[in-house]
Amino acid sequence: MSDLSAPITALKGVGEALALKLGRLGIEQVSDLLFHLPMRYQDRTRLTPIGLLRAGQEAVIEGEVTACDVVKGRRRSLLVRLRDASGILSLRFFHFSPAQQQQMRSGATVRAFGEARAGATGLEIYHPEYRLSGGSETPVEEYFTPIYPTTEGLNQPRLRALAQQALGLLDSAPEALPDVIPDALLQRFQLPGLHASLHLLHQPPPDVNIEQLTSGQHPATRRLALEELLAHQLSLREVRLRIQADGAPTLPSGRSLQARFLAQLPFALTGAQRRVLEEISHDLSRPAPMLRLIQGDVGSGKTVVAAMAALSALAGNCQAAIMAPTEILAEQHYRSFKAWFEPLGIEVAWLAGKLKGKARLDAKAAIADGRARMVVGTHALFQDDVHFQCLGLAIIDEQHRFGVHQRLALREKGEAGGLTPHQLIMTATPIPRTLAMSAYADLDVSVIDELPPGRTPVKTVVVPDERRPEVVERIRLACSEGRQAYWVCTLIDESEALQCQAAEVTRDELTIALPELAVGLVHGRMKSSEKAEVMTAFKAGELDLLVATTVIEVGVDVPNASLMIIENPERLGLSQLHQLRGRVGRGSTESFCVLLYHPPLSKSSRQRLAVMRETTDGFRIAEKDLEIRGPGEVLGTRQTGLAQMKIADLERDADLLERVSAMAQTLQGSPDVTAVLVRRWLGEAAGRYGQV
Ligand code: ADP
Ligand code: MG
Repeated sequence: MSDLSAPITALKGVGEALALKLGRLGIEQVSDLLFHLPMRYQDRTRLTPIGLLRAGQEAVIEGEVTACDVVKGRRRSLLVRLRDASGILSLRFFHFSPAQQQQMRSGATVRAFGEARAGATGLEIYHPEYRLSGGSETPVEEYFTPIYPTTEGLNQPRLRALAQQALGLLDSAPEALPDVIPDALLQRFQLPGLHASLHLLHQPPPDVNIEQLTSGQHPATRRLALEELLAHQLSLREVRLRIQADGAPTLPSGRSLQARFLAQLPFALTGAQRRVLEEISHDLSRPAPMLRLIQGDVGSGKTVVAAMAALSALAGNCQAAIMAPTEILAEQHYRSFKAWFEPLGIEVAWLAGKLKGKARLDAKAAIADGRARMVVGTHALFQDDVHFQCLGLAIIDEQHRFGVHQRLALREKGEAGGLTPHQLIMTATPIPRTLAMSAYADLDVSVIDELPPGRTPVKTVVVPDERRPEVVERIRLACSEGRQAYWVCTLIDESEALQCQAAEVTRDELTIALPELAVGLVHGRMKSSEKAEVMTAFKAGELDLLVATTVIEVGVDVPNASLMIIENPERLGLSQLHQLRGRVGRGSTESFCVLLYHPPLSKSSRQRLAVMRETTDGFRIAEKDLEIRGPGEVLGTRQTGLAQMKIADLERDADLLERVSAMAQTLQGSPDVTAVLVRRWLGEAAGRYGQV
């Protein structure tokens, strides 16, 4: 007899072809069927009186045929009128056979299942499943009917039968599927055990609260959500353990080098920056790789913190690297680090995907032989052909664009002496604590919760685009007073090409409207050297107005820019708007952000823009964003893996997160439990992936 851990082909009737299809659903062994959960249910457990049926409802009905006609409309169809004691309804078939027509003669009793809709003759069901019945002695279904996510060539009855087989095996050998959640915890949240939950979800009894089940509020769903969240946490912690099992170079604080660096800065560090630096130097002094995330609002001064950390690595005779998600940002970091480090006698190298030919070879050689101590670039830095002499610290800026993969890949970059570099990850997306605990369970988190002094909060106004001429005048005025401005063109969901084209058109229009100003343009399709040239000119004050696409979103720093216009802000997420707006308000002059929307605004757009007007606090904005768009969007979770969760929902199940975290900590010591859960919820791939 087959058991739950057997390959799926051990089941009756599952051959290679079917196994292949099941494989597409992530079902490889028998127990996977149990965790392939229904996405919804049909209620075939009772007959619904026709008179109570509403459009959109799926139901089993039974009635007597009163008429059966072929009707000509736009499409020929067979129309069968049915009547029960409570009302009348029609079944409509666009494909039908003479035999069918024969069956449906007046007086026959038909039982049908399908979705009622408002049709030409009143309520209709198109192509119902049906059978002729002798009357109500034929039973309806005993359980709700599960509808599973499926794939081409695999129908629901087939999947249902397989799930039933798996449930049967579970009943005959319950110990094969251990329940690892402690009873105390289940009681606390009043959740059922694993086996009871699985039974209920695959086979809900007729008295189940189906709304609760569909909305994911049912204790059986929550029970499995708890387990799934736990599995995700455990797998992230696994990643952490694997990385930290490697040695890392113990780095000195490098105080004298840091002091020389600080002495040349025109400002002192904030208390928050100093506190976070303490946390970092503690990590760096230990022989295990640091895995630390810095959260700090836009403009909180993360780059300087990164530079200070890099100096520790350099003082320890290692190299440091900083990787940014876009070329523009990487180039800006390159300029900053050059300006900061070269006076200290430190060579800074630059590497990006677009760097070609001899320049690339030279950069790679300098990185490999250790001449380049500080390396700045895009993710090109961490490609296979780049070798470091001794990478001690890898800094990843604006983390939400990178994922666990890269984090793991970094292990191979330490090279010399087999040591793994310390990792410092920086993000401007502040997220609530419990969510952070889940999304970043593999990282320690530091928060820079203080902005440098002397910043005046950006004033934000929301203006309809018919007032564009006034806005243009505003730019003229600001620039005539020696300040600079951004004009951001957005076109979400359109191709990048269209976006760039729109920016070009806007640049042309503004050049004509503002002939006395120097207008520049930067967008994603320009060569990186062109982009860099424009950014340098803007930074140097040679350009007054910079028209840009959202490529300038992250990190760009030009303190003299004090006015930003954002076109079509209603199309962007709040966090993205906050990022964009963070490009102004970096100097001491009062800054303005004009959100130039296209009327009419939907209610939710109006709410969102109001949030932008009312606050500049990144944490509040992130919370609102979370409310409006949900955690997946906010975290950019494609990379974190949280988006692929099968049943857990970070928002709905938020109350479970804290417990899950504590449990993960306890369970981390039991590798078998961890292995079982990770395999169960993240699949074979995740198990293997942990071996990277
Ligand atoms: P972000 O955290 O958004 O990456 P940056 O590191 O780009 O912010 O810093 C924003 C600006 O603030 C930069 O011009 C930087 O030089 C400046 N800055 C950083 N720390 C301080 C500080 N302690 N006092 C004053 N200005 C600072
Ligand atoms: Mg930054």
